[in-house]
Amino acid sequence: MKLQALREEVASLHQELPRNGLVAWTSGNLSGRDADSGLVVIKPSGLKYGELTPESMVIVDQDAKLVEGEYKPSSDTASHCYIYRQMPEVGGIVHTHSPYATAWAAVGKEIPCFLTAMADEFGGPIPCGGFAPIGGEEIGREVVRTLEGQTSPAVVMQNHGVFAVGKSPEEAIKAAIMCEDVARTSFLATQLGTPVPLSDKDIARLHKRYTTEYGQ
Ligand SMILES: [Zn+2]
Repeated sequence: MKLQALREEVASLHQELPRNGLVAWTSGNLSGRDADSGLVVIKPSGLKYGELTPESMVIVDQDAKLVEGEYKPSSDTASHCYIYRQMPEVGGIVHTHSPYATAWAAVGKEIPCFLTAMADEFGGPIPCGGFAPIGGEEIGREVVRTLEGQTSPAVVMQNHGVFAVGKSPEEAIKAAIMCEDVARTSFLATQLGTPVPLSDKDIARLHKRYTTEYGQ
């Protein structure tokens, strides 16, 4: 029953990716981990976003072995599973080639923390991971290595795109959306001049306020 709810959640949250301009055609993917069974619900490979239904989602175990599904899972499945195995606190992972964040990835640069919105959400820069080949768990290894010791829940992977993690699939989507938003503003700022840095102290204060006091 809970796995069925996760299937529905992951299928419907996929629609946030095209809705927020984060993906083109069939690129990008989202997964969620069921806390009780540890099973992972992930996008089928090569299906269009409009075709995704709860039934078309693929279920794999944490070693990326197929448990249930009529389609092949996303080509990034082994990397998602690697991240889940290494990061027990993670319950959702999103991958996109969203244009502004991926432009930073193409030049192999982290996104520096110039903005209060970025300090709030990311608590520092969005780091850039090294290039890794697609298809196995190499990307996952590089994501885990790059996120270690960072407050950011998102990473831009060199020459590739964004990986974002969260306690839930919805949190991971939020991180991917905010990553693209701050990547765009930071890019625009660099076209106008040299962005004014935020001090580490201000970044830490903003992040603490946002994560402990903001909201209802
Ligand atoms: Zn990709």
